[in-house]
Amino acid sequence: MSSSQPLYYNGQPRNATSGHTFDSVNPSNGEPLASIQAASKSDVDAAIASAKEAFLSWSKAPAIVRSRILLKAVSILRERNDSIAAQETRDTGKPFSETSTVDVVTGADVLEFFANHVAGGGLNGETTQLREDAWVYSKKEPLGVCAGIGAWNYPVQIALWKSAPCLAAGNTMVYKPSEFTPLHGLTLAEIYSEAGVPAGVFNVVSGAGDVGAYLSGHEDIAKVSFTGQVSTGKKVAASAAGGMKYTTMELGGKSPVLILPDADVDQAVDGAMMANFFSTGQVCTNGTRVFIPKQMKDAFESKLVERMGHVRAGDLMDMNTNFGPLVSKVHLDKVVAYIRHGIDVDKATLLYGGPEKPPSLKGMEHGFWVQPTVFSDCSDNMKIVQEEIFGPVLSILTYDKIDEAVARANATPLGLAAGVFTKDLNLAHQVVARLEAGITWVNTWGESPAEMSVGGWKQSGLGVENGKRGLEAWVRNKSTLVDMSGVVPSVFSKL
Ligand code: NDP
Repeated sequence: MSSSQPLYYNGQPRNATSGHTFDSVNPSNGEPLASIQAASKSDVDAAIASAKEAFLSWSKAPAIVRSRILLKAVSILRERNDSIAAQETRDTGKPFSETSTVDVVTGADVLEFFANHVAGGGLNGETTQLREDAWVYSKKEPLGVCAGIGAWNYPVQIALWKSAPCLAAGNTMVYKPSEFTPLHGLTLAEIYSEAGVPAGVFNVVSGAGDVGAYLSGHEDIAKVSFTGQVSTGKKVAASAAGGMKYTTMELGGKSPVLILPDADVDQAVDGAMMANFFSTGQVCTNGTRVFIPKQMKDAFESKLVERMGHVRAGDLMDMNTNFGPLVSKVHLDKVVAYIRHGIDVDKATLLYGGPEKPPSLKGMEHGFWVQPTVFSDCSDNMKIVQEEIFGPVLSILTYDKIDEAVARANATPLGLAAGVFTKDLNLAHQVVARLEAGITWVNTWGESPAEMSVGGWKQSGLGVENGKRGLEAWVRNKSTLVDMSGVVPSVFSKL
């Protein structure tokens, strides 16, 4: 086996046949971490063939047997939480204080949730008595070989959020990690095998977008579960439509945070900071448009600026560090260009941060660091307010009337998340009911537990992940009508 990271299919690490490798880079210092083998088309074919073969028996295994195996994987993930989290920190640049408490934990929780759900009857269909001697029963059947395509911001969590319901429902998966954060794929495949997941049930093919495109368009793929940008999602959905494949699309957002006039300013500032600086702003549900009442502007901004000192960049393994670099040089350049645009073209007021490199951290001078940035006096037509930046850039917008704030919050083609801060719970529910978003929060931001079904509205996605409804995306329905009367209603019967 070559020293570069192999693919994984049919229960084994496999060398790619493409002859191509690419590097995973440590975002904190810009140094290569590992060389990764890129899959060729024939490698993807082989991975899909192994998943197709494995489907025959995995789909027939009793749900409780699949559940038992997946729960073993949950135990291993939890035992190895810190080593997997440290790998994610090196690969993504996210502080260990996050990866060790969120990324693996929330992934393992979802695997546990779906393993228990299917064991507890989550795959049961319905029975309907039609007449005394006739009834309809329905079954939830797995789809077949599914493709999972992941983004780079929550690598192991995304891989688990896709594979958990997929495998629990009896499907098999070929998973492609983002080329920017590929390390977790092999780790997860090995953990599944160690737990007893049969060969071919979970497979990993690494590479760039072309590998994802070939995989998702493959005729033997029944479903594509995709997490990534809206523009890529549209291409993947179009290609899947050609083969009438099932799809789940978890795409980008430009989510609003509505601070209502009676909100506690401290709590509102905390919420806005969580919504913008966690994971250095590289969260799909980022609440980048922060709407505050005009009369609260001064109090909110002065408290926010004071609190920005709590954003601590530094050694990523130090539990005190809560702010890391961006994932890649390409992404750093994109985020900095948005910040420059905000200053030079949009003419927003730069309240904190900016496009300049932050003070160098020793040994990390070549990392992809950016300053957490706050813009004030923003208006709805600014590019920084309209487009997903996917970085630590908060825009403050003021409003007079709540109705106006709601209308402006909804005036976007995206609809991933939204949140409301207020002491008036009746008002909170009234406002939430009017927000066009699939994920909403009241007086909090960002928590996404296994029990909560999450998915975007409008161009932010199709379908949901997690919660009981999340399983429905991985099954198809079969209805059977049984008639015991022996009478076939037919216009062709003899009179
Ligand atoms: P991209 O759309 O660039 O990439 C996502 C994945 O798709 C990667 O694995 C990528 O490969 C692959 N890919 C690229 N082109 C194709 C193609 N033509 N066919 C199939 N696969 C392809 O997204 P990012 O990785 O930049 O992720 C950031 C985005 O993800 C943000 O917009 C964010 O909002 C969104 N996101 C949404 C979430 C949600 O739940 N709604 C959660 C997390 C992120 P490669 O990168 O290797 O080229």
